[in-house]
Amino acid sequence: MAGWWAPTGLYGLHVDLGHYHSHRRVWLRLPVARFTCRHGCTEEAVGPADVADLADRTTGHARTCPGPTEETPS
Ligand SMILES: [Zn+2]
Repeated sequence: MAGWWAPTGLYGLHVDLGHYHSHRRVWLRLPVARFTCRHGCTEEAVGPADVADLADRTTGHARTCPGPTEETPS
């Protein structure tokens, strides 16, 4: 993710809420989320539905972390 601001070692879910133009009802900048955990798991999501899904899936991750996975979401 180009230009991502979170420093190395600051684990968790980082969400850029984007910019929604409520009058025109369009996204001027899509929401973007990146999740990292101290065991090496990383996931990224772009767009409101995928960001919401990532937030749901990573809730409680630290308690049940299986370690890094081979899957890399595209
Ligand atoms: Zn993990």
